[in-house]
Amino acid sequence: MNKEAGANISSAPPDGEDKKVTRMQCKDLREIADSCLSDDLLIKSNQEALEHLELCADCLREITDRRNLRAILRAAVMQAPALQLSDEFAARLRARLRVAPALLSLS
Ligand SMILES: [Zn+2]
Repeated sequence: MNKEAGANISSAPPDGEDKKVTRMQCKDLREIADSCLSDDLLIKSNQEALEHLELCADCLREITDRRNLRAILRAAVMQAPALQLSDEFAARLRARLRVAPALLSLS
């Protein structure tokens, strides 16, 4: 029995070995992709993500697309901060205008 078990361990890696080499799956990578892009990811996870990206062209493309999109969005916002501010202001103004009639009738 013991000899058989020993032979099994040497020929086929046991479960422990698998866990040690946990490969990040595509699903996992997509889940952390946003954290990955915003740099607030644990270094360990980041390394696993980078390892996965080296092996998986699909995820690499996905990440690259997302990164490009973020860069474009950021650039757009940076170039037009007034636009974003006025958007927020307009929303607040609209909310106030909605409340205003009620306030008028109360006073
Ligand atoms: Zn992948």
